[in-house]
Order: sequence, then C-alpha cells, then structure tokens
Amino acid sequence: MIILKIQKKLNSKISNMKCPICNNSENVKIRCDYKYEIKEDIKYFGELNVCKCEKCDFSFANPMPEMKNLNFFYENVYRQINRPPYWVTENDEESEKRVLEDKNLNYLLYLSTLLDLKKIKNIYDFGAGFGDLGYAIKKKFPNVNLYCTEYDKQCSEILKKRGYKNEPLENINEKFDLVITLHSLEHLTDVNIFNNFNEILKPGGKVFFEVPNCPEEYFSGRPYDGPHLLFYTKKSIESICDKFKFKVDRIDTSSYSFDEDHKYQRESQDRYYRIKSGKTFDSFKQFIKKFIPYNLLKLRQLIQNSKNINELHKLGLFTSNSDDNCYLRGILIKKD
Ligand SMILES: [Zn+2]
Repeated sequence: MIILKIQKKLNSKISNMKCPICNNSENVKIRCDYKYEIKEDIKYFGELNVCKCEKCDFSFANPMPEMKNLNFFYENVYRQINRPPYWVTENDEESEKRVLEDKNLNYLLYLSTLLDLKKIKNIYDFGAGFGDLGYAIKKKFPNVNLYCTEYDKQCSEILKKRGYKNEPLENINEKFDLVITLHSLEHLTDVNIFNNFNEILKPGGKVFFEVPNCPEEYFSGRPYDGPHLLFYTKKSIESICDKFKFKVDRIDTSSYSFDEDHKYQRESQDRYYRIKSGKTFDSFKQFIKKFIPYNLLKLRQLIQNSKNINELHKLGLFTSNSDDNCYLRGILIKKD
C-alpha cells in the first residue's frame, strides 16, 4: 500500500516534469532536492525537487508551487522587515542611499557602455523592486519614462515617489526601447514572460537581464535555492532566445565567485535564524538600535563602509567573465 502511494506520488511528479523551455519531458531528470532559504517557506512553496532538462541545460523546481500561494508570498512575506535577502528596514532614507550602491553603479556602467541611453525613451522594469537602476538612469537622462510591474506594497510606494507608472503587465499599452529585469526571472514558474517582452518592445528593442548563474558549481555548493524556481545557464538563455524570437547581443557572467556567493548566503541565512531565535547578540543589537537616533546609525554605517572599502569582495563584484561568476547578465535584442 505504502509502495503504491510512493509510486503514485512519483508518477504524478514525473508526469509534470516538462521542461518550461522545450515543453518536453524526454530529456528531463530529477536533479536534486530543493533547498528552502527559510524552512517555514515550505507552506507557500510545497514539497519540491529540482529537475533538469539536459537538452536546454535548464533546471526548474518541480512541481511548481500554486500561483495563489506565490502571490501571497511576494505581496506580504518576501520583503518583510528583518528577512533575507533584502533586510528591509523601516527607513525610506535607506532606499535613497541604495541607489548609489556599487551594484547599481555597476549596472549603470554596463548599460551606458553597451547602449546609447540618450536614445532610450521608454523603459519597463519587470519585478522592479525599488526601481533603483531606472531611477538612476532618469537622474542622468531626465526625458526617460519609467514603467514597471511590482506587487510588493512597500516597493510600490517608493516606485510611485520615483515617478514610475506601476501597472500589471497586461494593462500596459506602451511600447518600449528597453526592458530591464534584474533578479526576477528566476522567481517565475515558466519562461513565457519573454512572449510579453517581445510584444511590448519596439522593433529592435532590448532586454537587459541579470539572473543567478546555475551550472554545476551552483548546485554543488549552494546553501539554498528558495525562493527561486528557475535555474538558468548561458545555454538555456540561448534556447529561450531561439524560442521567443530574440537575438543574443551579449551574455556575460558577472559578480562574486560561487564560493563567495555561497558564503554570503550562508551568513545571511544564519543571521535570520539568530535574530528569529531572539536570544542572541543580533536580536539585542536590533533592540538597542530602536533607541539610537537614525543619524548616528547612519554615521556608524558610513565609517564601517569606509573601513571595508579595500575588501577583496569588491574585486569579485566588479570582475566579469572569470569562469567563476555567480550571476549571468546580458542584452537580448528583439528580432524583426
Ligand atoms: Zn528543455
């Protein structure tokens, strides 16, 4: 009886094991167990494993979580205060400071080197978060119009202040020169968003994307997968381009080495559990912070940042195409 049950469960999993790119199950195998970032998230994501399509070199969570649970997660849980990966605080001033973080300046340098931003009129950011990059572009090129789709409540308020029109994708009638999508595509349950990108782009319009780079080195060392559901490689991006009528302008690997990235992820995960347990120095620090004026905290942060300025991790953040980079980024062009 038990064997029958297990068999039934396995069969139902196998029957859903279709590759989201080629829609075929022929080359798909179970790759490994899915690792949750926060173990309680299993209530939104369900019991998952990771499958891989050998043909597309693409891995994906299986079975995919239900949309209503995911929507709830992203609207209410993902950017909660004191939760990784964002560690959102209650201060709006922090979001202004973040625009000038190395990560955003690095994106701006990449884009302004490879595209003529003077010619860009309309930008759409899918999964904009706080919309840092578009906002930075608009500061240099004020004639740009910013659109986005972002359901998180706290982000929505900041996006509005920054001049974004935030609409569900199906309500957007504008045509765009540039779609930006940074660390969003890996949260989706399929890759059909590229169809939408194709529809809203002007002829020759471009997509600037960044996602985690997920070859074997990712899977062999990662502390967690969650909340990501799709795991891209260079080859899988090329397969997506073939399917959805895009041409690769360029694909680069970027940012930290896999080892560094896994180390930061482990630290972030540990910090969450330490704060949550409420018995540690971290939670004591959180408590004390409530009584310290914000400007003093900011000053302390600035001093800490300047101390860290020579840290080697900056080399990681600013080195591309080293064959050991944890992100993939690139520019895709809509085919005529
Ligand atoms: Zn496939």
